[in-house]
Amino acid sequence: NTPLHELDPDVAAAVDAELHRQQSTLEMIASENFAPVAVMEAQGTVLTNKYAEGYPGRRYYGGCEHVDVTEQIAIDRIKDLFGAEYANVQPHSGASANQAALFAIAQPGDTILGLDLAHGGHLTHGMRLNFSGKQFDVVAYHVDDAGLVDMAEVERLAKENQPKVIIAGWSAYPRHLDFAEFRRIADEVGAKLWVDMAHFAGLVAAGLHPNPVPYADVVTSTTHKTLGGPRGGIILARNKDFAKKLNSAVFPGFQGGPLEHVIAAKAVSFKVAASEEFKERQERTIEGARILAERLTSDDARTAGVNVLSGGTDVHLVLVDLRDSDLDGQQAEDRLHEVGITVNRNAVPNDPRPPMVTSGLRIGTPALATRGFDAEDFREVADIIAEALKPSYDSESLKARVTALAEKHPLYPGLK
Ligand code: PLP
Repeated sequence: NTPLHELDPDVAAAVDAELHRQQSTLEMIASENFAPVAVMEAQGTVLTNKYAEGYPGRRYYGGCEHVDVTEQIAIDRIKDLFGAEYANVQPHSGASANQAALFAIAQPGDTILGLDLAHGGHLTHGMRLNFSGKQFDVVAYHVDDAGLVDMAEVERLAKENQPKVIIAGWSAYPRHLDFAEFRRIADEVGAKLWVDMAHFAGLVAAGLHPNPVPYADVVTSTTHKTLGGPRGGIILARNKDFAKKLNSAVFPGFQGGPLEHVIAAKAVSFKVAASEEFKERQERTIEGARILAERLTSDDARTAGVNVLSGGTDVHLVLVDLRDSDLDGQQAEDRLHEVGITVNRNAVPNDPRPPMVTSGLRIGTPALATRGFDAEDFREVADIIAEALKPSYDSESLKARVTALAEKHPLYPGLK
């Protein structure tokens, strides 16, 4: 029972350094968040020791009476949160949830229709090197010149290619999708509709984004992005039509023993996600992204060659377009890193620069909203970012402004 710092000082030192990094910088990677201490506590319990292949009440191992309780709580809470009749909380990650969902509703070799990776889609929606691109026949739809998903193209491609599955969902897109229209097109060609709400699930839970569950045959999500829980995945469905196929795709299809410690942490985070405090946090998340979009479309930002894809945002992120800037995505990411703000570079549609460099940034507000940032704080963050992306900038003074914000909102004050 030797504590970590004594048993393994090398690992402990790196963990401590990471805590310090999170506390002292501003985290604006759109897919990241800060899990509550209670969630991390649940994840660090003895539940990590338990094998529990199967599902609550139907396990292949003895001694599952307590993990049955935590897993059932997680299932019941997530069903309530999204109005779903079916939930599976076992996927180890978003990509695992997507793999199981796709194999439950389609066969290898079938045609699938998803948003192009370079236009904001995810690897698991048909990227060439991913299982989805290797084992399925992929057709991709795109965003139009205004940066919006081109629903006319979705319909045309659906009719031409008769996909078995249409995928609605994104990793980098700043607007709402029209789920009713996706449903209409899917019905028109006899396709299943799969919505991947990994990015915007927290906004849906708070009632601030349309809920895809009533429209889709299957909905997947991560639990660690806007939803604010531990790293992991979930699968939901509006009814039980695919329940058997989905359950057996997860186990024994792709996974063995579920991570019951993570599932307990998911349960805790779903309780948080049903609270008023969570809703208020999601409101600040969206407000922060709007403030950022406004600042980055102001005259002086434009003069520096900075634009915002689609002209603004409805969600928790802003896509910065640097095609007119002297800075490429890599340089802009490095600039912000230098002043203490963490973001990721991101290709813009029809990007003239190579994928390792890109002409864009994806900047998200969930982690800072969790940290307590309000509109005034987000105005300051937006101004720091706009100043840092100008041809000449004062690194030291911007860094000092970042530090002041970080100190104003201490992160995990009880942790050392
Ligand atoms: N789906 C979408 C839309 C995502 O953006 C991501 C992650 O970025 C995933 C799935 C995959 O999640 P994970 O990284 O947990 O496998």
